[in-house]
Amino acid sequence: MNVTNRISRKLHVVTHGCQMNVYDSARMADVLRPLGYETVDSPAGADMVIMNTCHIREKAEEKVFSALGRLRVLKEESGGRMMIAVTGCVAQAESELILSRAPYVDLVVGPQAYHRLPELIARAHRTRGSVVDTDFPAAPKFDFLPEAAGHQGVIANLTIQEGCDKFCSFCVVPYTRGAEASRPAGSVLAEARRMAALGSREIVLLGQNVNAYHGAGADGAAWGLARLLDALAEIPGVRRLRYTTSHPADMDDELIAAHGRNPALMPFLHLPVQSGSDRMLAAMNRRHKADAFRRIVARLREVRPDMAFTSDFIVGHPGETDADFAATMALVRETGFALAYSFKYSPRPGTPAAALPQVDEAVKDARLQELQAELRRQQDAFNAATVGLTTPVLFTGAGRYEGQIAGRSLYAQPVVVESERLLTGEIHEVQIDFANPNSLLGSLQKERVAA
Ligand code: SAM
Ligand code: SF4
Repeated sequence: MNVTNRISRKLHVVTHGCQMNVYDSARMADVLRPLGYETVDSPAGADMVIMNTCHIREKAEEKVFSALGRLRVLKEESGGRMMIAVTGCVAQAESELILSRAPYVDLVVGPQAYHRLPELIARAHRTRGSVVDTDFPAAPKFDFLPEAAGHQGVIANLTIQEGCDKFCSFCVVPYTRGAEASRPAGSVLAEARRMAALGSREIVLLGQNVNAYHGAGADGAAWGLARLLDALAEIPGVRRLRYTTSHPADMDDELIAAHGRNPALMPFLHLPVQSGSDRMLAAMNRRHKADAFRRIVARLREVRPDMAFTSDFIVGHPGETDADFAATMALVRETGFALAYSFKYSPRPGTPAAALPQVDEAVKDARLQELQAELRRQQDAFNAATVGLTTPVLFTGAGRYEGQIAGRSLYAQPVVVESERLLTGEIHEVQIDFANPNSLLGSLQKERVAA
């Protein structure tokens, strides 16, 4: 006899953009699970497809519309039964454009409204029309989300802060994600405890401006990120902590000191600088100078000598001259990055820089190529320097080929070793034998297990 009459439905979620979207996608699945939605790997035959989108650059937005075109075919094949939802930052910024270019979309839901998905789905069924919810609710969505039910794996993302009040000249985030808000420390710690109990060993704290964190503690006082990291490190099972993305202006003394004293905090920091020219940093409204970035790097290397850095760069922001770009190249050569992301400036509607005279596309291309060649050289040198070293690796599961297992180094580099046992969730010392462009190959040092 069937003891449950719960309706089973198939949900497929497509995620574009940053790790915060990856986290949000997992939470959307949590919200829909009580309604019988189980996630599936393919959109074909799904009852509901969610496209969780990114609006940061024009290319990201165009990807959404071409993917929607493909989903339309599947929706027609299902006789109209498949529901299509567009969520994330394109939904927030371009709801009208979505409904005019893709009127077959059923739901358009902003990043602060997805906890309301069940009622929005019901409304779309009732009205048989498109439903839009792009409000920024007064109470944050975290107050309404169910406890995260799914296990994300050995490495888990945890959003602790959202939105941004910095209004960099080029960036859509303050408009799509809204004002900066931090989750209370107790709610973050409770979620981290659940993650650790399910088997997560590394927690990556996420926020658009994560080091501006100022969540309320149980005592009512605001906790900074350093204090939160100390409390997280006390949770049994939590072995490694990282946080991303940070702003140089919020890298305070306490947080720098935390890198020296908190052994769970990995010696690897993503600290976007965008440009090495003070003139451009002012034009970008970045609120820090190039030397401030240099000082932060030096102080972190002082408290944690094995510290390594990644960053983000924009080339061709309006007004960027050859001399400004040369200052960026000088900063890159001086700092030495383990890895970095670099982008051509992409004008975003509604942001201040979009209204300014633009740098020639060919100039942008040439600058990007030069910067990326130097960053690639630095990344290869960083990886090559690990060959011959023995380093702790957190194992996350099976590798791509039989007999191989995969994990992450202190610097989040993918590491592959041969092993008969999976060692998932364990940290073992590995000697690095070979460096590929994007991964390391090593051998297990069986006799030595990292503390
Ligand atoms: N909050 C982070 C910070 O302050 O650096 C970055 C957030 S943003 C999601 C990630 C990166 O995208 C930025 O660091 C920047 O390099 C890049 N980006 C943002 N807007 C851009 C634009 N209009 N054109 C090109 N790249 C952009
Ligand atoms: Fe965008 Fe980061 Fe600047 Fe905020 S601080 S506006 S998220 S680039």
